Amino acid sequence: MQRISLLNTAHNFIKKVLHPGDIAIDATIGNGHDTLFLVEQVYPSGLVFGFDIQQIAIESTKEKIKQTNYPNCLALIHASHSEMYKTIPTHYHGNIKAIMFNLGYLPGGDKTIITSTDATITALNSSCHLLSSNGIITIIAYPGHSGGDLETIQVTNWCDQLDINQFEVQVIYSSTDNQSAPRLFVIHKLTNSYE
Ligand code: SAM
Repeated sequence: MQRISLLNTAHNFIKKVLHPGDIAIDATIGNGHDTLFLVEQVYPSGLVFGFDIQQIAIESTKEKIKQTNYPNCLALIHASHSEMYKTIPTHYHGNIKAIMFNLGYLPGGDKTIITSTDATITALNSSCHLLSSNGIITIIAYPGHSGGDLETIQVTNWCDQLDINQFEVQVIYSSTDNQSAPRLFVIHKLTNSYE
């Protein structure tokens, strides 16, 4: 049985398309690890928008970024990612290079606060419009916890309905012999697709 780090895999996909000066979104800040990773890629002149519904995630990430050389590359937004379309300034629409989702609950936090399928699907629809050509969306989904099974099914269905002329989808499982293992969806927006 082979185990794969979905986080490292997501980061490796993103590194190929996200460069200094680019714009990115962390749709689920949590403890800020992915946020910092994105900021490190776009530094010094790019920008990362980070969303979380929990104030504790915003505060701890604010503290983390203060200790780096690149605090000006991050805009933290205490709101649901379902608000991203109206929250991100319009001049960035169609120019976002990478959008990360890490679903479920905040590790070490309140396990009853989880991503909700409706908000996730709304945010994914918005992401398709915000993304630039050749941009990338990564989604890590965790079946097996309350709400996680349904959310994983809905994300799978959402990926299945994407236009294959505009988006390419890959699914990577964390464990090669377990079809109900956590998984990473990687969505590439193809060149010349609609904005
Ligand atoms: N990427 C994070 C990291 O590097 O630590 C881990 C994210 S954690 C698995 C999921 C996060 O999603 C939690 O912090 C939770 O508060 C947040 N969340 C839940 N629903 C949300 C929503 N509708 N919009 C934005 N964030 C949400």
